[in-house]
Amino acid sequence: MQVYLDHAATTPQDPRVTQAMLPYFGQVFGNASSVHSWGQQAVHAIDRARDMVAACIGAHPTEIYFTAGGTEADNWAIMGVAHAYRHKGNHIVTSSIEHPAVREACRALQQQGYRVSLLPVDGRGVADMQALRSCVGPDTILVSLMHANNETGVIQPIAEAAAIAHGAGALFHTDAVQTAGVLPLEAGRMDIDLLSLSGHKFFGPKGVGALYVRRGVKPANLLWGGAQEKSWRGGTYNTPAIVGLGVALDCAVQTMADDAARVAAMRDDFEREVLALDGVQRNGDGPRVCGITNLHFVGVDGPALLYRLDQQGVAASAGSACAAGSVEPSPVLLAMGYSADYAAQCVRFSFGRDNTMDEAQYAAQVVRQAVLALRAH
Ligand code: PLP
Repeated sequence: MQVYLDHAATTPQDPRVTQAMLPYFGQVFGNASSVHSWGQQAVHAIDRARDMVAACIGAHPTEIYFTAGGTEADNWAIMGVAHAYRHKGNHIVTSSIEHPAVREACRALQQQGYRVSLLPVDGRGVADMQALRSCVGPDTILVSLMHANNETGVIQPIAEAAAIAHGAGALFHTDAVQTAGVLPLEAGRMDIDLLSLSGHKFFGPKGVGALYVRRGVKPANLLWGGAQEKSWRGGTYNTPAIVGLGVALDCAVQTMADDAARVAAMRDDFEREVLALDGVQRNGDGPRVCGITNLHFVGVDGPALLYRLDQQGVAASAGSACAAGSVEPSPVLLAMGYSADYAAQCVRFSFGRDNTMDEAQYAAQVVRQAVLALRAH
């Protein structure tokens, strides 16, 4: 049996998405900036995708900007606000568990002279709101806190963080890459100024994402070029990818509640089986997204476990995929107070709507056997 449990890294593309994209690789190839009917067909497709994304996240279509993925959306939100609002202040607050797309953007700003505060997290993996309250001030221009962490799945208190940011006169950005299509999002009602999402985390194409920018918020340009995306991000539209993004998010949101319940049941069943082994502990507590569990296996090398699981047809991940292959311990687990040695014994399993309960049970047995075998070595 082949069991893919790495949906937080990427998801397989839904065949309905592929089907919707196909015409735009073929006969509907026009440049959306052209006035002729070839171009206008592309414009209509992009407009439809924009409407779909907006409807799925409780936004107005004019507040949706297409990007080449989650990293680009995160970078644009952070760099764009920092540069455009520099006259108001130079202080940016983020958390110590952000994805590198946010963390490294903030580090780059620090090198440009901005002051960056990193919020600590508690042992459950939840960012400290008291620390946020104490560190915002009149020079704070942006608070960026992810909606759910990609390694532990722990949901962050974004409503509270947004209220604190706004109370200090700062803007609020959230990286919703792990929650779009998984949890209900109402960007407008949730008082969010900027929100990032990425197609390949909800069964859509890779290399396409979107940034929600609330009306009235004006980040600096991401790219300088043509008039696309109100001239903020010039460049010929990737029509097939944008169409795929819209359809993928729409499909995900349509069945989101049922899928979440089913995925959580599989994840919880798997977790129960594996936690029944001695010397296994879960990292992250409190509300989590339905698919993710991050487990520590005493005395087991994480990469060795991953290798053994892969041989048995089970795909999982050590920390985030972007950190996999590097020897650096997960900054998320370190921020939660764990040691580098502890972090090296952790594996993330992430379930998706295409998994079955049989797969979850098979994977749990494979994990149990692999852990016992590695400990016996
Ligand atoms: N933010 C989070 C929380 C993620 O999990 C990821 C992907 O792993 C990204 C941002 C980056 O998105 P993309 O792979 O589309 O650049």
